Amino acid sequence: MTEIAASAPSPNGSLRVDLDKKVEDFRAYEPAPARVHTFYRLNHAHQTRAFVQAKKQQYLGLDRQRMGIWTALEFLNTLVDDSDPDTELSQIEHCLQTAEAIRRDGHPDWFQLAGLVHDLGKVLCLWGEPQWAVVGDTFPTGCAYSPKIVLSEYFKENPDSDDPRYQTKLGVYEENCGLDNVDLSWGHDEYVYHVARPYLPEPALYMLRYHSFYAAHRENEYAYLMDDRDREMFRWVKLFNQYDLYSKDHAKPDATVLRPYYEALIEKYFPAQVRF
Ligand code: FE
Ligand code: FE
Repeated sequence: MTEIAASAPSPNGSLRVDLDKKVEDFRAYEPAPARVHTFYRLNHAHQTRAFVQAKKQQYLGLDRQRMGIWTALEFLNTLVDDSDPDTELSQIEHCLQTAEAIRRDGHPDWFQLAGLVHDLGKVLCLWGEPQWAVVGDTFPTGCAYSPKIVLSEYFKENPDSDDPRYQTKLGVYEENCGLDNVDLSWGHDEYVYHVARPYLPEPALYMLRYHSFYAAHRENEYAYLMDDRDREMFRWVKLFNQYDLYSKDHAKPDATVLRPYYEALIEKYFPAQVRF
């Protein structure tokens, strides 16, 4: 239960990336487990503005691999949480459960598809990125940290905390500059947004890009960095969030049964090969 480094193989040879779900669990009750503290201490200490910009350089050329979306989901599924095999969902099951909950409520097909692909950026773990650079809540770098960010006390270990340019309310940004101009901490949201950008409608892209930005979509922080478009689109991000929560209420989705439906949806919006 103390595993954090996603690059460390687990006994069955798979990789673990259980933090997203565990953080959701922990949101419901205090205090956070030691494992969550360890994770956020690393995340908050190492996600500097320079780190974020370097990762964007490294990954956003999308020249690592070409694969179909379903293949990418299966690839992601080799990443399993083996801490509690009786109750946890696999990665693909979480993606399908999110999509199915959206579908059940009668939302449009592109919204369902956003649910299906929203965590595909976690393939970063399979390319050797540590968990603290893939999952967890995201936050703006280059300006003052909101005290409402989860476990914000660990920002004192971030070198940017000692840089006065980055510690004013606006930091390097202009008021209402728009989130597109803001370097959020690096992780699976930003990555999958760029993968999907040519193919999905704007509300879906906002859901992908900001689903882990809890300080904004749950706490309403950083409104001064948003422009009018962001404010309008965040209604979709908030709507999406309720479907992204780990739920034990519904039976595990059956990937074999659901695959034809979602393959058709994928085919409607994405080409056969997508750049990662
Ligand atoms: Fe996620
Ligand atoms: Fe998710």
